[in-house]
Amino acid sequence: MTIQTRIAGQFSLIVATILIVFSVVVYLTSATYRQEEFYERLKQKARTTVRLLVEVKEIDRNLLKIIDRNTITELLDEKVLVFDSRNRLIYASVDDEVIHYNPDLLRQVRLKHEIEIHDGDNELAGLLVDERGESLVVLASAYDEFGRSKLANLRRTLIWGLLGGIGMTVGLGLFFAGQSLRPISRINQQVQTITSTNLRQRLDEGNRQDEIDQLAVNFNTVLGQLERAFEQQRSFVSHASHELRTPLTALKSEIQLGMTRHRSVDEHEFILRNLLGDTDRLIGLTNSLLLLARPLTDTGAVTMAPLRVDDVLLEAQQELLNAYPAYRVRIDYVTLPDSDDTMIRGNAMLLRQVFLNLMDNACKYAPDETVDVRISTNDQFCRVAFIDSGMGIGADELSTIFDPFFRASSALGYAGSGLGLSICRRIVEVHNGQLLVESGVGMGSTFTVLLPNG
Ligand code: ADP
Repeated sequence: MTIQTRIAGQFSLIVATILIVFSVVVYLTSATYRQEEFYERLKQKARTTVRLLVEVKEIDRNLLKIIDRNTITELLDEKVLVFDSRNRLIYASVDDEVIHYNPDLLRQVRLKHEIEIHDGDNELAGLLVDERGESLVVLASAYDEFGRSKLANLRRTLIWGLLGGIGMTVGLGLFFAGQSLRPISRINQQVQTITSTNLRQRLDEGNRQDEIDQLAVNFNTVLGQLERAFEQQRSFVSHASHELRTPLTALKSEIQLGMTRHRSVDEHEFILRNLLGDTDRLIGLTNSLLLLARPLTDTGAVTMAPLRVDDVLLEAQQELLNAYPAYRVRIDYVTLPDSDDTMIRGNAMLLRQVFLNLMDNACKYAPDETVDVRISTNDQFCRVAFIDSGMGIGADELSTIFDPFFRASSALGYAGSGLGLSICRRIVEVHNGQLLVESGVGMGSTFTVLLPNG
């Protein structure tokens, strides 16, 4: 079932229920009023008959009968019976005994003084009237032809009105639901034409006012993000292939060189050492690519545990100095911490990689191969700053240095793949921290890691 028919159906159901309830209430109220009015008329008739019969001496039973039968206001099938205190019929407006009465009925009238009952299609009112010391029972019955025909007319009008009203509601419901949903159908058609190859396409945002326009605006925002993600993915893959091809080509040419002629053991050893270096570079590159390609949080491999940041820093320092003994790493505390001040929840292996990378960059890109590491803490963060006095980074390149494979123009003479900082940022974000940079050309650089206290 389409939304259009569902909305129209619900709308019609609600209106139809209201119309039906309204019609039923109107009909029942009218029926009750008609009945009450008719009983009142019958009682009036009964009282008048008794008064004429008992109080007006000039009128005897036969005259009264004639008057009763010839009066203009005579009702259809009208009968009036008067009984004396011994329940003997002393007056009947008609000759035949069509009115149903029995001693029980009379007893009830005497008991309740007034009764209103149905006598077949007729209504019957019974009254106890005290006239000249005698308790007379009067039964008046008739068929309310006028009232019932009015009621039948009302019933017909209500039924036709109801059918017409429901028909109109269904039609209007379908029309207005269609009108309201037309923008959604339009969006639907536009969305069907969007595929991974034409993510540049956007939905019509209308006047950006109503909810459906807002849906289109939000959808376009998601499309924009998707397009960027696809673009990054594409450029990531092409950069990655390029980066992998370079060491592989080097490996191949070294192997070919080794095979060109018979070589001495020393020459072979030299070539093998080169091969080992290139293979290490390849392994490092592949590891970095793997780290970037998979979402760290999804792997389940990132286990967080309480750790001291300064301990991890010392491990990273040791590792760096083992590889590059000429580098100088000076670790300093800005504020002398208590034993637990540098405690955070994190993954020691990943954080060591971040610190190692930042120290390595600082020493690599600074002529004095020196980095100053400053640790400070406050009640929110543990802050580690890596300060160098190297070449620095231009303002135009600062925003892109965290993109995978980006290398500043000034870094081209140095070894590197452009993956380190993007990996660092990813790892710091997994720790709910921040990686910030301040730098200027020729002014050195400061990379700051903020890690929330555990
Ligand atoms: P890599 O160092 O392997 O090139 P990174 O992702 O670590 O890759 O760094 C990206 C780029 O940011 C570097 O190529 C370099 O241009 C710049 N950069 C990073 N750290 C520094 C630094 N301490 N001083 C100057 N430039 C830096």
